[in-house]
Amino acid sequence: MLDIIRPGDRPYEEVRHVYTATGSPAAVIRPRTSAEVAEALRLARDTGGPLAIRSGGHGISSRATNDGGTVIDLAEMRSVERIDPGDDLVRIGPGARWAEVARSLRPWGLAVSSGDSGGVGVGGLGTTAGIGLLGRAHGLTIDHMVAAEIVTADGQVRTVDAEHDPDLFWAVRGAGANVGIVTAMDFRAARVPRVAHATLQFQVDRPAPFLEAWGATVENAPRELTAFAYLGSGGHAMALIVYAGDDTEAAERAFAPFADLAPLLGQRAVLVPYDAVLVGARGPHYGQQTGHVRNGFAVHLDRPLSERLGTLLGSLPGAMLQVRAVGGAVNDVPADATAFAHRHQNFNVAAMTHAPTSLLDKAWEDVRPALDGLYLSFESAFSPQRLADAFPPPTLHRLREIKRKVDPDNVFHQNFPVA
Ligand SMILES: Cc1cc2nc3c(=O)[nH]c(=O)nc-3n(C[C@H](O)[C@H](O)[C@H](O)COP(=O)(O)OP(=O)(O)OC[C@H]3O[C@@H](n4cnc5c(N)ncnc54)[C@H](O)[C@@H]3O)c2cc1C
Repeated sequence: MLDIIRPGDRPYEEVRHVYTATGSPAAVIRPRTSAEVAEALRLARDTGGPLAIRSGGHGISSRATNDGGTVIDLAEMRSVERIDPGDDLVRIGPGARWAEVARSLRPWGLAVSSGDSGGVGVGGLGTTAGIGLLGRAHGLTIDHMVAAEIVTADGQVRTVDAEHDPDLFWAVRGAGANVGIVTAMDFRAARVPRVAHATLQFQVDRPAPFLEAWGATVENAPRELTAFAYLGSGGHAMALIVYAGDDTEAAERAFAPFADLAPLLGQRAVLVPYDAVLVGARGPHYGQQTGHVRNGFAVHLDRPLSERLGTLLGSLPGAMLQVRAVGGAVNDVPADATAFAHRHQNFNVAAMTHAPTSLLDKAWEDVRPALDGLYLSFESAFSPQRLADAFPPPTLHRLREIKRKVDPDNVFHQNFPVA
């Protein structure tokens, strides 16, 4: 029998909200199997009203809850199993969080690159890209995916891979939310028993020159290294840097140029299993992380872009700028191999603020012309312009063809709808 939680039921308070928003759905259905997901979908379609699909509930777009509708919450589907020890294949449920995944893979010396937050769910991140701290060494999360199980709008449970429903498999890796509910993902994990992990804190009085130098340093680093920088408007910055391997001398050499970028307020480097890099875990959601986010990709953090980003940081109260490295192994994959097509850029930059969206949009309009593409998982709002930035014309065209066949009624229109 389906587990359906309604207002007034004891667990309702724990399941109504997500990380970035509050909600008041009429029903939260918690399936335990793909057959139950299909049943939940049928029920939701028969009932009518808004529908939300939730895995970890950490979506920046806040679309995993609603008011008065149905939420299909995959939190109970969170197993992490090793399918084939010889081939390092693992099967992961969408409701698992990336911290749990990393912990489960650790005894086998394996890792799947995810994002920087352990609290983020497998379903949301694994269907869009997965820009993580093993990215330049091992690629995006979706680049490790070899198969997925998905419930489509007609209620069918399908296993998709390079040979079976290849179009759907292509779409799942970049635009999964548009084509169905992913109920399991098979990944070929990387052998990464330990990583060297550096955390640096800087005093940054002038963000623009810091960003330009940061960009050049990242691009000159060996591809074992991936670095994320977080700049606040108060003159401080933090860096998370991972060297994907346990050669501490090589890691030290790779880390060294970063320490010269600005006066250091703190520094720490440790050799740890990958799961120690991920912060955040499973915890109650109550809309604790509200705010607005805009992002884009860039090939280089050149002077014009760095200056625009520096101006934005100075003009938005309480803003934070996040600069995540991509490139390396991410760009070894052809742009048309997955529905995530951004394979020539070296950085993703995201700005977040609690200031009104009108202020953010105004400031972002000055930055956007210097950017090249967009990651839908770092956008808190949707617009046709953002859709076009996320999916270049050939990708969007192919996605729409697939969408027409697999979801003609546009059931899955919640998150960056391509139709
Ligand atoms: C603190 C924080 C840090 C982050 N850091 C990174 C990072 O470093 N790198 C990175 O790549 N991303 C990062 N993200 C973005 C993250 O990848 C997205 O927000 C992602 O959607 C969250 O996944 P979730 O399962 O928790 O989300 P949910 O809120 O559960 O879902 C988000 C949306 O994804 C879709 N969806 C969810 N599950 C499924 C499914 N099983 N099948 C089909 N569609 C589904 C639905 O449309 C849903 O509305 C971060 C987000 C946060 C909040």
